[in-house]
Formats: sequence, C-alpha cells, structure tokens
Amino acid sequence: MHVHVVTIFPEFFASPLGVGIVKRARDGGLLRVSLVDLREYTSDRHRSTDDYPYGGGCGMVMKPEPIVTALDAIAAGAPRARRILLSPRGAVLDHALVEALAREEDLVMVCGRYEGIDERVRSFVDDEISIGDYVLSGGEIAAMALIDAVTRLIPGALGNVASALSESFASGTLEYPQYTRPAMFRGLAVPSVLLSGDHAAIGRWREREAQRITQRVRPDLLKKPAERTPGAPAESPSGLGGRRDTTVEPPPAGSH
Ligand code: SAM
Repeated sequence: MHVHVVTIFPEFFASPLGVGIVKRARDGGLLRVSLVDLREYTSDRHRSTDDYPYGGGCGMVMKPEPIVTALDAIAAGAPRARRILLSPRGAVLDHALVEALAREEDLVMVCGRYEGIDERVRSFVDDEISIGDYVLSGGEIAAMALIDAVTRLIPGALGNVASALSESFASGTLEYPQYTRPAMFRGLAVPSVLLSGDHAAIGRWREREAQRITQRVRPDLLKKPAERTPGAPAESPSGLGGRRDTTVEPPPAGSH
C-alpha cells in the first residue's frame, strides 16, 4: 500500500512512522508513505496555504489551489488513489471502514489546519473521515491514526495473523481479557482456566468473556448494522458518493 499524506507539517510524521508495526511494514516493503509538503504547491512568494474567510469570521481557511494542485500531482502517478479528507464532518472511522481502506493500493490523506479547508476541496475527494466527535488542531493526528489502523490489516504486517482476527471489532465484539505473569498480582489472580492448558476450554472462556464485556460496555456492537445508530450513509462511507463535479458561484471580488 502506498499512502500519500498532504500536509503543511510533514515533520510531524517522523516519529510515529519510525516505530513499531508501521516501521516494520515500511521496512518490509508492505507500506510506503509519501509526505507531500503542501507548501511545495503554492504559487506565491510567501508560500501561503491559507487566507481570510469570505464573509468574515475568526481564523484562516486553507486555500483550495495548493491542495487541488497537490492532488493533481499525486494523481499523475496514482490515478486510482482513494482520496480522503480528514474532517470532523466526515464519517466516523470504524473497523469496517478501516477494512475497506486496507484493500486499496493507494490512499491520499489531506490534513486540514486552521479553521478548516475551503469547501470546494470537497469536490475533489472521495471520502471525508473523522476520527471522533471532537476537534483536533489538524488532520495529521487523524491521518496517523488511519495509517496505523490500516497498516495492521495489511497481510503480513502483524507477525501473527491470528492476532488481527481476534482483536476488538474484527469479530464484532471487543477482545477478551488478557493476562501475563505473574499468576497472582496484589491479590488479583489470573482466571484458573487460562492456567489449565485446556485450549478448548480457554477458547470457550474467551468467547464468553468477549460477549460479556461487549454487552456491558458496548452493547451497540452486538446489534446488526441496520439496527445501529440511524443516519449511516447509504452511498459511501462519507456520504459524499465519490468526487463531485460542482460549480460554485465565485463570490464578489474583495468580499473577504
Ligand atoms: N473549524 C472546524 C470545525 O469546527 O469543524 C475545525 C477545524 S480543525 C481546527 C482543523 C483540521 O483538523 C480540520 O480541517 C481537519 O483536517 C482536522 N480535524 C479536526 N478534528 C478532526 C477529527 N475529529 N477527525 C479528523 N480530522 C479532524
């Protein structure tokens, strides 16, 4: 998989891309990440990526030209790439969406900053994805969360295939409780079945515990998709339904 991240802070990614499973996937050729510095696609002396909002208001808005020029440049090498805009307005990321993204060969992730991005950029992306109902200062953390979650599902990225299958959400439930040594810690014992060596009994216990925990803390996960929270988009995860060709009336000149 090749991920192209469009950002004004490429340096942000150095540390998280350089450790653990993501690093191993990159070293092993399973994952390639290209950091696309948005400032390289500006056309003015100051390399500005933002401007004042039309209609007034606080903060700055990311300009459409550098972002769309960067997307065009990426498309020249990866025409079928799925383009994602990280945004609090997007579909909230979940396991099903991570699975779908993990099947792509090329992903483009556009990271916003400031007060957000010029609305017209939405016409040039396929999906809009949020990592939760809160506001981050920029899309970089969201993009990194996406890269990390997707990488775990690339075949061969996890040392043990079984661990991806047994993890929370993969099987429709949260994971069963995990223990390691010592068998007794500050008066808290490891459940005896885990010390029994009876793998069938351990399997049944884990399944029961996964169900019990999910029922207690996330009963919504046990419902069929159709019974979950209403408002699930029908056409695409983001509800955008792919890139749109929209014509937007230009605002009157000088009306910031
Ligand atoms: N003014 C915007 C609003 O109220 O929705 C928030 C802009 S936020 C400060 C700047 C950028 O951070 C966004 O353009 C987006 O790329 C990213 N961002 C913030 N929260 C996010 C979230 N929950 N999920 C994904 N990206 C997020």
